[in-house]
Amino acid sequence: MPELPEVEVTRRGVAPYLDGKVVVGVALRAEGLRWPFPADLAGKITGRTIRAVKRRGKYLLLEFDHGTLIVHLGMSGHLQILPLSAPVKKHDHFDLVLEDKLMRLNDPRRFGAVLWHERGKGAAESHVLLSSLGVEPLGTEFSGKLLYRNTRNRKSAIKQVLLSGRIVVGVGNIYASESLFQAGINPETPANRIGLARYERLAQAIRSILTTAIEQGGSTLRDFSDPDGRPGYFQNSRFVYDRAGQPCLICGNTISQIRQGQRSTFFCANCQK
Ligand code: ZN
Repeated sequence: MPELPEVEVTRRGVAPYLDGKVVVGVALRAEGLRWPFPADLAGKITGRTIRAVKRRGKYLLLEFDHGTLIVHLGMSGHLQILPLSAPVKKHDHFDLVLEDKLMRLNDPRRFGAVLWHERGKGAAESHVLLSSLGVEPLGTEFSGKLLYRNTRNRKSAIKQVLLSGRIVVGVGNIYASESLFQAGINPETPANRIGLARYERLAQAIRSILTTAIEQGGSTLRDFSDPDGRPGYFQNSRFVYDRAGQPCLICGNTISQIRQGQRSTFFCANCQK
């Protein structure tokens, strides 16, 4: 599933092709994805200029003067910039057609989304899917203090609190395990039992790990218009994730695997207290 770093790399990859460009049309090859496509989407955005390509959590926001096209990649979505003559393949459900290129969404499992938020209803961030998201992990609001303040009444395990995305977005399963390892925090620790100093370390770890993943994704993806160009995210930098039974790279202790809320968690019981 595309995580925040993949979505950010996608944003950086497609933005140069979309910024300031006029939409010539759209192609819809399904009723919709997770939800139906917006009614009369072509009428809404044809002839209009894309003013900016932003991201909130895992949502891409294509801003127009009169509203925002919200795009989510779901479980299996992938955006490409292609020539106008590019042949249509299976699962190519949505094209945003520009004068000289098109942006195509391929999504085999169709859990992605293409939605429209009218400017008159307020900022895109007030959309029902976006309004309850936690802060951006790479933004200025995120800090150890924020984690500390928002967990004083939270008895759930810290790993679950991170995954919920309600305090901070974008810390998916891999990144939660890795951040907690880097910060030396056992993933089962109740969130309200972690002090400010440890939360400062955790916030720093989250920033650093997500930044590294974005840099690696960006560097392995030479050209976003390359149809076969899919980056390998964060595969060579994992200390614990998917390493059950192998020795900890720091202390040599065996890496443990447990289940938390249907998801696998990996950690070193010696390095993480
Ligand atoms: Zn260890």
